[in-house]
Amino acid sequence: MKKNILYIVLFFVFFAVGFLISKEFNKKNTVVKRTQILLGTVVVIQVRNFDEDKANDAISKAFAEIKRIEDLFTTYRNAGEIYKINHSSDTVFTVDDEVFGLLKTGDSLWQISGGAFDLALESVTKVWGFDSDEPAVPENDSLKNAMENSGWKNVELIERKKIKRKNKVKFNFGAIAKGYAVDRAIEILKNENVTGALVNAGGEIKVIGKDWKVGVQHPRNPNSLILKLDLKEKSVATSGDYEQYFEVNGIRYHHIFDPATGFPAKGLQSVTVISKSNTWADAVSTAAFVLGKEKGFEFVKSLKGTEAFFVDSLGNEKMTDGFNKYLIEKIIDSN
Ligand code: ADP
Ligand code: MG
Repeated sequence: MKKNILYIVLFFVFFAVGFLISKEFNKKNTVVKRTQILLGTVVVIQVRNFDEDKANDAISKAFAEIKRIEDLFTTYRNAGEIYKINHSSDTVFTVDDEVFGLLKTGDSLWQISGGAFDLALESVTKVWGFDSDEPAVPENDSLKNAMENSGWKNVELIERKKIKRKNKVKFNFGAIAKGYAVDRAIEILKNENVTGALVNAGGEIKVIGKDWKVGVQHPRNPNSLILKLDLKEKSVATSGDYEQYFEVNGIRYHHIFDPATGFPAKGLQSVTVISKSNTWADAVSTAAFVLGKEKGFEFVKSLKGTEAFFVDSLGNEKMTDGFNKYLIEKIIDSN
């Protein structure tokens, strides 16, 4: 009788231990995936092989960081520094370290891209209405006026954190803020000891861990991919003429401007850039897009640790030598 009780007790002990182990195992092998609309796009964060509660906690912190960056750089709401600068009449102002760091990156990129990358195009972006529901080709006079109040040539980094500008020149960090936010979100997840994660802010993507497969959208076919990539712990960003655009008389007008003309840059459908920093990948993809197929290609080739894939306006593709090592598959599109 005693023996029977012993067996029953043992059975329950083993059952309970097995149950707890399997519960713990499942908890550690789940993928926690959450989505929020931030920075004017869909932001997805995935964490895997991590305790579910801790994953949720880490993701919440990463989203909070992205929201903080949205507030800092938004030009729509009075939420942070850039809005305040854009609406002040000061010619000399002081920014914090974080904004200064990005202005420095913008300044170097402006120089090395021969002015193609320009963080002072807010007035041009506004006059085309890309921040409204009804973008349209601006009147000549309005564009001329916007151009006079735009351009990095009117901005000077005087000393650390101190900026001088022609007072009507306004800033727009749209070409770099998403990449920066992705970098920061990844840092937050790392600080929380996450070892497998992916952050995707509307196509600007960075991962933690080795075996993430990442897709890049086809520039003319929103429902299919053009590339499947293995990021090998690097990050990817794409600039394209298909994210925000409208058409008039068969001409596509999109949101990436040639700072020399104030008109949408011509010649390419998309540029996809891979580099360690997503801030860099985001900014370089915009710069290369403006420079076009030939100059943009030479530009990327001159940059260390940076690879790119170009699709021109006829759909022809071209990639830098080192891009191949990230390529799992190039998808042939039937259109
Ligand atoms: P997406 O936002 O689709 O990822 P980009 O990263 O190329 O595309 O950024 C485009 C945004 O950057 C535009 O909405 C505009 O605010 C701003 N922008 C447009 N032209 C330029 C340029 N030549 N240099 C820097 N920023 C630009
Ligand atoms: Mg960009």
